[in-house]
Amino acid sequence: MENTAESKNFIEQMIDKDLADGRYSGVCTRFPPEPNGYLHIGHAKSILLNAGLAKKYGGKFNLRFDDTNPTKERAEFVESIKEDVKWLGADWEDRLYFASDYFEHMYEAAMSLIKKGKAYVSDLSAEEIRQYRGTLTEPGKDDPSCGRSIEENVRLFEEMKEGKFQDGEKVLRARIDMASPNINMRDPVIYRVAHMEHHNTKDQWCIYPMYDFAHPIEDAVEGITHSICTLEFEDHRPLYDWVVREVGYEHPPRQIEFAKLYLTNVVTGKRYIKRLVEEGIVDGWDDPRLVSIAALRRRGFTPESIQKFVELCGISKSNSSVDYAMLEYCIREDLKLKKSRVMAVLDPIKVIIDNYPEGQTEELTVINNMERPELGTHTVPFGRELYIDRDDFMEVPPRKYFRMFPGNEVRLMQAYFVTCNSFVKDENGRVTEIHCTYDPASKGGSSPDGRKVKGTIHWVPAFCARQAEVRLYENIVDEELGVYNEDGSLNLNPNSLTVLKNCYVEPFAADAKAYDSFQFVRQGYFCVDAKDSTEDRLVFNRIVSLKSSYTLPGKN
Ligand code: ATP
Ligand code: MG
Repeated sequence: MENTAESKNFIEQMIDKDLADGRYSGVCTRFPPEPNGYLHIGHAKSILLNAGLAKKYGGKFNLRFDDTNPTKERAEFVESIKEDVKWLGADWEDRLYFASDYFEHMYEAAMSLIKKGKAYVSDLSAEEIRQYRGTLTEPGKDDPSCGRSIEENVRLFEEMKEGKFQDGEKVLRARIDMASPNINMRDPVIYRVAHMEHHNTKDQWCIYPMYDFAHPIEDAVEGITHSICTLEFEDHRPLYDWVVREVGYEHPPRQIEFAKLYLTNVVTGKRYIKRLVEEGIVDGWDDPRLVSIAALRRRGFTPESIQKFVELCGISKSNSSVDYAMLEYCIREDLKLKKSRVMAVLDPIKVIIDNYPEGQTEELTVINNMERPELGTHTVPFGRELYIDRDDFMEVPPRKYFRMFPGNEVRLMQAYFVTCNSFVKDENGRVTEIHCTYDPASKGGSSPDGRKVKGTIHWVPAFCARQAEVRLYENIVDEELGVYNEDGSLNLNPNSLTVLKNCYVEPFAADAKAYDSFQFVRQGYFCVDAKDSTEDRLVFNRIVSLKSSYTLPGKN
């Protein structure tokens, strides 16, 4: 055995074997989304796996829209899917395909099966076909139409194509084995009548191929070698192999199944997300609380963080669920080394430094990222009036509270030592203003006489900070109570969105544009919202908080 085999996943090991055996001379993979919704984090796994294998083996990667079912498909989704796949870093170059472009070929393939006696037109209704199919313990019964002559089947299939039949009146079935222990092999329906407009072929067709017939043909036509899909298709593999064999492709593709990616306590099902969107509970498919690719991008996730996440999840044959905290870990690790640290105050109280000369300001220089000095520095203006966060001040501090309270000296981050002398309250007893004095000798945050302070507080200059809206997110469902209620509805978390309207960011972040992100000191990583942020109104999404108790599986 090669000594690298251990680090290869089971799919790579199968590919290695196929190449060694000469079954294939190269590798071609594909991502075959159905354009009936937005892509989510699970699809990202499939995209990166397929594109990654093509890259690793110097092969090709196709993006193919599996648009064979006109009922649910829309052109809008084609565009969003292309954008998401590209953003994730999977490059299909000029290899963009639509299954609907193969309708003619699929029709011919079905006709060739009829001519070999391997397919027949059936008069049974969908319900009757279900009844005739049998169960896991009982074999199915032959379709009364299965004895039709080839000539009659050819004529009826042509008539299906010509529109002579209503939806459901006739179907084409593959003739395989009604007694097969695998129900998928009991004369599956391969074509149906559907008088429906298709987003691509419009009204050219009124018959459409079924997934299990269309998919292997799409793969074969494109010269796909390894057709990677999720575990629920394992039982369909014999049918996949039957189709490519009976239609007679010279280099039939091989189907390989792997386990879907599931996130614990996270809603990924299209059905649920659609309802959240339609009921206005979320702000569209890209609401930052969702895990569609568009939502993750809007929230401020990077392609690199998702690539890392997918890599850490690994490829497996058994279903399991990954904690959302692992995704958070990945984005934190990625942003940590890329983003500038700035000061932002989410719930401001004004601080006035009484002994700082009125009208005077100065520029303090701060390092953008402590771990990456090459990211440079920026300046932050300092002056007499500042804002600090409300929870950095207490009128009557509990024990071990080291931040600002009357009589206590603290460090204003990167700036000076200040001591709180007094404060002002409004008629509701809410603190509105804090008065301090500063020690001019403590510039830069240390005192020449070696005086120590225990608390360091972030701040922004009140005279030039930019006001911003900040959105904090929690899981959209209540994890404690369980994701689903007994009636199958979602158990929503009422605190999944908190909007803070009166936040302030230092000038360095004031002109941030869509998707720009920063570390806000002590608060987390934040990204400019691409949908709602404008020149007049700056809106940030919290991507992730700074710390977590999460440790990678297998590490401690
Ligand atoms: P969903 O029902 O979650 O929207 P789907 O299977 O209907 O997903 P498709 O457009 O048919 O969506 O999927 C395109 C590809 O993505 C398929 O190859 C499918 O196997 C893969 N895929 C879908 N969900 C996941 C997942 N959770 N993990 C890994 N791959 C997935
Ligand atoms: Mg699907």
